[in-house]
Amino acid sequence: MAVKLVACPQCGASAEWNPQNRFRPFCSERCKLMDLGAWATERYRVPVAESDGSEIPPEEDPAPRPN
Ligand SMILES: [Zn+2]
Repeated sequence: MAVKLVACPQCGASAEWNPQNRFRPFCSERCKLMDLGAWATERYRVPVAESDGSEIPPEEDPAPRPN
């Protein structure tokens, strides 16, 4: 049975994509935590551009659009 390898988004190392790897797609818990940390930092750092208090447009529209 072939092991599927994925590149760790954090460090680029090959990580095994299997149920035993709790940190997939990361290679280790450390990389996972680092990535989550970067994510949080990024989110807080991103300025809200042109925010006028109006509602944020939905990213996904589950309802079919009449087109
Ligand atoms: Zn890694």
